[in-house]
Amino acid sequence: MLTPNSIWEKSLKTLETVVTSYSFDVWIKNLRAVNIVDNKLIVAAPSRSAYAVVLENYLDKIVESIQAQNLFVNDVELVTEDSLLEKQFPLPPLETNKEPDPVEKGISLISKYTFESFVVGDSNKFVHAAARAVAENPGTRYNPLFIYGGVGLGKTHIMHAIGNYLKDHNPSKKLIYTTSERFTNEFIDSLRSTNRFSTQKFKEYYRSADVLMIDDVQFFENKPSVQEELFHTFNELHNENHQIILTSDRMPKEIPSLEERLRTRFEWGIIADVQPPSIETKVAILKMKAEYERYIVPNDVIYLIAERVESNIREMESLLSRVALYAKMLNQNITLSLANESLKDYIDHRKAQMSADTVIDAVCKYFNATRDDLTSKKKTKEIVEPRQIAIYLILEFLSLPLASIGQIFGGRDHTTIIHARDKISDRVKVDKKLVVQLNDIRNMIKGS
Ligand code: ADP
Ligand code: MG
Repeated sequence: MLTPNSIWEKSLKTLETVVTSYSFDVWIKNLRAVNIVDNKLIVAAPSRSAYAVVLENYLDKIVESIQAQNLFVNDVELVTEDSLLEKQFPLPPLETNKEPDPVEKGISLISKYTFESFVVGDSNKFVHAAARAVAENPGTRYNPLFIYGGVGLGKTHIMHAIGNYLKDHNPSKKLIYTTSERFTNEFIDSLRSTNRFSTQKFKEYYRSADVLMIDDVQFFENKPSVQEELFHTFNELHNENHQIILTSDRMPKEIPSLEERLRTRFEWGIIADVQPPSIETKVAILKMKAEYERYIVPNDVIYLIAERVESNIREMESLLSRVALYAKMLNQNITLSLANESLKDYIDHRKAQMSADTVIDAVCKYFNATRDDLTSKKKTKEIVEPRQIAIYLILEFLSLPLASIGQIFGGRDHTTIIHARDKISDRVKVDKKLVVQLNDIRNMIKGS
């Protein structure tokens, strides 16, 4: 059956070959096919900055990739995830795009993620030193290398840097780079008897690595068969002094889904963390990115961006491209006032998360509920109503993407969030008591 996803998956395969791997990774991969309306595929961008960049640079290529499929769908409408709220497209459930079999096509390293393009500061000098040591002498001292730290702090970059270094200096080594999600999906696929790639082939593939890199191991689900497979792969590679590199957003002992025997193995080698960068490091990174992209960016703008973003380097980069794009559209130089103008509706997601907390706290206090209740799966009336009110007010106060709100409420999907909001908006029209309650809570929020 023709679904938005199946069309989009085909498109992605083409797009991967017509844009740089960097652009693909940063801008294209995070788009989501939402629906088909008339002959148009509706594609959502995760943020307004991504929307602007894709619209300007990649929309033509996306349309071409759809037209090449020769379907009744021959056009694309780009929207932001936020705007879906207003438009109310019937949303299909979120699915992660399945990728082709690894044996056929592995994930390639991003060539731009090198040691040379990695700015070293106090926050990351330890991980940098460990990564250099591993790149220079894989499979010896630091095995496995376990890298952990917050989102957008350079874990994937440094892991690819090791890979790229080895590709140049040690080309005979077989490198395999994957993610926990992909490893899992491939393994499960391989179990299906109809699949061309048997479990045997899967095992051989991963066990043939001289260097195995697995990104984001916090996403290994609690699936015994997969963890068992990973366990044996780990042992075999480790016994033969083949290098294993892992990244995660937290330490092994803080990954609840991980089996004990894997956890201890992940701690066998060296554990290196990446801390949020200092303002100096943020500035140095921005200057390097500006130079790489050939943007002419005055210092005050660099500082503005560095200060605006709490810690996520990826977010910082996207602000820089947004400012640059804005200047390009207006055909002006980048100045402080232009940057301020183009960033005026930007929200730092960490700050937004904090503000969402303010709303949730107020609602909890008002209804004498706990935060855990509100974010739980409980469906009793005493909890459902405060939960819906909290969601309604968060949407009213903050321009957060639906998916982020879903995350805050215990991993619910965006349709649930829309449903909660609609429920309250409908009731507001008829329920005077609710109107009073909402006003009380609004006042509490404003006062805090
Ligand atoms: P993570 O995997 O930790 O979420 P990434 O490795 O994807 O983060 O990094 C996010 C972005 O920030 C990438 O574009 C990366 O190049 C950039 N980045 C992170 N740390 C640095 C650094 N120290 N120097 C230069 N760029 C960096
Ligand atoms: Mg990463």
